[in-house]
Amino acid sequence: MTGDSTRSVHEAEPFDRKTGAITTPIYETSTFGFSKAERVPKVVGGAPGYTYSRWGNPTVDILEKKLAAMEHGGDGAGFSSGMAAISTSIFSFLKKGSHVLAIRDLYGGTYALIHDILPEMGFSTDLVETTDFGALESGVKKSTSIVYLESPTNPTMKVVDIRRAAKLAHATGAVLMVDNTFASPINQNPMDMGADVVLHSVTKYINGHADLIAGAVVASKEHAHRIKMMRRDFGGTLDPLPAWLILRGMKTMAIRVRQQNASAMVLAEFLSTHRKVSAVHYPGLKTHPQHQLAKKQMKGFGGMLSFEVRGTTKDAMKFTESLRVATLAASLGGVETLVSQPYNMTHAQMSAEEREATGIPETLVRVSVGIEDCEDLVDDFKRALAAV
Ligand code: PLP
Repeated sequence: MTGDSTRSVHEAEPFDRKTGAITTPIYETSTFGFSKAERVPKVVGGAPGYTYSRWGNPTVDILEKKLAAMEHGGDGAGFSSGMAAISTSIFSFLKKGSHVLAIRDLYGGTYALIHDILPEMGFSTDLVETTDFGALESGVKKSTSIVYLESPTNPTMKVVDIRRAAKLAHATGAVLMVDNTFASPINQNPMDMGADVVLHSVTKYINGHADLIAGAVVASKEHAHRIKMMRRDFGGTLDPLPAWLILRGMKTMAIRVRQQNASAMVLAEFLSTHRKVSAVHYPGLKTHPQHQLAKKQMKGFGGMLSFEVRGTTKDAMKFTESLRVATLAASLGGVETLVSQPYNMTHAQMSAEEREATGIPETLVRVSVGIEDCEDLVDDFKRALAAV
């Protein structure tokens, strides 16, 4: 099985030889019974089997195996949210005196964790200019345990060289963590480029239907085990019911994402020529500053783009309110097109100066392109821009 769509349908889910069922059962149980007491210490010690669903669950296990296959890693770990996956993974690789080096363009929650929370706990962190690789190189210290990045970035759509970042991290003994939420495993596989830990807000493309919150990690077997041990105690476990919904959603991930890639390209090109738009940020455009790098490290350019409405924050608000097909809402990666103004939504946790420095003006609109017919989306955007 090598194709993404074949994998997302079949990987880790052979049909049940006993019943013939072609879908995975939901093992909605908090705990597991034992008929032989002597098995208990063995399973607790790591032998195959289950004891308690915060530690492991058969439905969640199947999802983790499918995720690992999609991201070309050794094993996966499911979490109750993307932030649970991110925070648990970061804490899995910190020790006293650790330094964390990250790019500046990060999802708001991750930014708060690395910029504010970790330093308050005594860890040193640096967030450097995202597209200046030299800044990342000079930011590495002997004590750097984690190099952390997103690519493409949220919501600025900047692209970071994952291969170079992996070499840089490994030269100092650090792990490279990459949040691959924006690209999805269909468009980019960071582990193929040397990343050690790949993170996802499964809430987005992987589940794809905007109906649950979940997160995931894919890493080598050894790193995934370390993160799973931390998850046991931090407790951000994924429940079997959402795991089952994600397994269902994943089966159409490749066809959803390919449609989203195609429509995003059409929308980006349309917006680039519109007089009420002052800038379009989409890695698929030849005018994107890291277009060549995106071509090298991505299989598709993704369903996310952002653009700046020419005018004021009120004009951008007017645009978002005037859409009829797309909806003004946070989040991304679902079948429905969503728009947001990151300045006062996803990135409200940043100070005005930080948003300015990162390139998040008040007039920036982020678009998560859904699977609606592309002509309907272009018409919708045309109508809403005419209302500005
Ligand atoms: N990473 C990225 C790039 C995101 O956009 C988000 C949420 O929007 C997260 C992580 C956090 O994921 P969750 O909301 O599932 O906790």
